[in-house]
Amino acid sequence: MEAMDRFVIDLKHLEKGVYNYHFSMTDEDFEMIGGTEFQKGDVEVDVEMRVSSADSFSFDFEIDGVVVVPCDRCLEDMDLEISTDGHLDAKFGDGESDNDDLILISEIDQKIDLSWYIYEFIALAIPIRHVHEDGECDEAMADKFRSHECFESGEDDEDSESADLASDTAAGEKEIDPRWEALKNFKLK
Ligand SMILES: [Zn+2]
Repeated sequence: MEAMDRFVIDLKHLEKGVYNYHFSMTDEDFEMIGGTEFQKGDVEVDVEMRVSSADSFSFDFEIDGVVVVPCDRCLEDMDLEISTDGHLDAKFGDGESDNDDLILISEIDQKIDLSWYIYEFIALAIPIRHVHEDGECDEAMADKFRSHECFESGEDDEDSESADLASDTAAGEKEIDPRWEALKNFKLK
């Protein structure tokens, strides 16, 4: 776990003020985080931490780089440019936060591991449909999928899906974006 320690910020006895951190994240880091959305990438992260009182913190993230995800059309790896930002508020406290935007940090540890949150911000920035540029797909693979009619249903379906959601809530509820499901599990770790 040594490699991940650099993402852990010790919040004990910090003076009020602004603190800046920079992380260069590579395949090794993402593999270690072990999320399901992507496992490889090359990403630069700037974090500005504001300490507004001894137990209250906010974090602003600027995230730029490339992650590797499977192309929706041919399933081969593709590089996806990511440029996103994120914000977190945190304070010391025990138990579960009832506010998704506020993280409670154990008063015993008084530490926050930013790697999970950075991963989450990147995962949220991955568009639902992502495909290679024209001509860069593995056409043999893409043809295979086309013949199974599993793919290429993208845009045309969107309207009918939202109509279904409106008319049939029960069915709609089952259609949770798998990425949100993955993140939910991910948060529990
Ligand atoms: Zn492709």
